[in-house]
Amino acid sequence: MIKKEILLINNLEKFINSKILYSKPVVEKLIAHARKEIKQLSNQNIVPGLAVVLIGDNPASKIYVRNKHKFFLTNHCHSETFTFDLNISQDELLSFIEDLNQNNKFHGILVQLPLPNHIDSQVVINSINPSKDVDGFHSENLGKLFLGHPRFIPCTPYGIVELLDYYDIETTGKHAVIVGRSNIVGKPMVSLLSQSFKKGNATVTVCHSKTNPLRKYTLQADILIAATGVPNLITSDMINKHVNIIDVGINRVEDDSEKGYHICGDVDFKGCSGKVNSITPVPGGVGPMTIMMLLINTIKAAKNGS
Ligand code: NAD
Repeated sequence: MIKKEILLINNLEKFINSKILYSKPVVEKLIAHARKEIKQLSNQNIVPGLAVVLIGDNPASKIYVRNKHKFFLTNHCHSETFTFDLNISQDELLSFIEDLNQNNKFHGILVQLPLPNHIDSQVVINSINPSKDVDGFHSENLGKLFLGHPRFIPCTPYGIVELLDYYDIETTGKHAVIVGRSNIVGKPMVSLLSQSFKKGNATVTVCHSKTNPLRKYTLQADILIAATGVPNLITSDMINKHVNIIDVGINRVEDDSEKGYHICGDVDFKGCSGKVNSITPVPGGVGPMTIMMLLINTIKAAKNGS
C-alpha cells in the first residue's frame, strides 16, 4: 500500500516538474480581445465571414472543418462550408474560388488540405485573392512573411508564437530545432523564429525525414517544435531537461478502445513530460490555437475590407 502511494507521488512529481502549456488560457485571453473587435465591426454592419472549401470525405478534414465552423458561429462570425466530391476537376474548383473571391460576404477563404492527387494544391491556393487568404499559404503571403512584412501568418505557426508569448518562453538567442519542413508548419515557423519578430531572434535548425541522426540535433534544442505526423517520434532520450517542447502532431492511432483509436502527438508525452522545462499536450495544445488564429486572421481581413 505504502509502496503504491510513493509510486503515485513520484508520478505526480514527474508531471509537476514540467510546465504543461495548455492552450485554454491563451485562447481565453485572445478571444476576449477578438470579441471586442467583432463587436466594433458589427457596429459598422460588418460580420467577419469565412468560406471553407472541403473536397471529399477525409474524416480528419471533416472534423477540422466542423470545429472551425462551430468556433466562428459561437463567436458571432459568419461561416459557410462548401463540400465537393473527390472527382471535382481543378478547373471547376478554380472557377468556384473565383466566385468566392468576388463575394463580399466572405472576407476569408480557406481550402481544406490535403486535396486529391489530380489537383495541384498550390495552383488552387494561389487562385485565392491574397487579401482573403486567411490561411496565409498563398505564394504572395508566404513571400511577404519571408521578407519580414507578413499580411496573414499561417495559423498554426502563428498560434505557436502566441503560446510562446503567453507562457513567456524566451526565444532571443536560443536554439530552436524544428522537426518537419512542410509549407504549412515547418517553413513558416523557421521564418518566424529566425527573424526579428515577437518571439523571434532564435538560431534555427531544421530537421526532416533525411536528418541523420535526428537525436544529435533535438538534444541541443532550447525550443523543440515537432511537426512530422509520426506518432511519438520524439522520445525522452532525444531531449535535454531545459527544453520547451511544442508538439504540433495530431495523429490518429488505432487501438482496442471503444472508439477504435486515440489521438497522440509527435512527442512521447508520457515519457518526456517529467523531464523537460515545458511541453504542450495533445490534444489541448497547438490544435485550438490554430482555430483561434484563423478567427484573428479573418477579423483582420474584414477590417481591411477584403
Ligand atoms: P507534412 O506531412 O506535410 O510534413 C511532415 C514533415 O515531417 C516533412 O517535412 C518530413 O520531412 C518530416 N518527417 C517525416 N518523418 C520524419 C522523421 N522520421 N524524422 C524527421 N522528420 C520527419 O506534415 P504537416 O502538414 O506539417 O503536419 C505535421 C503534423 O502536424 C501532422 O500530424 C498534422 O496532423 C499536424 N498538424 C497539426 C496542426 C494543428 O493545428 N495542431 C496543423 C497542421 C498540421
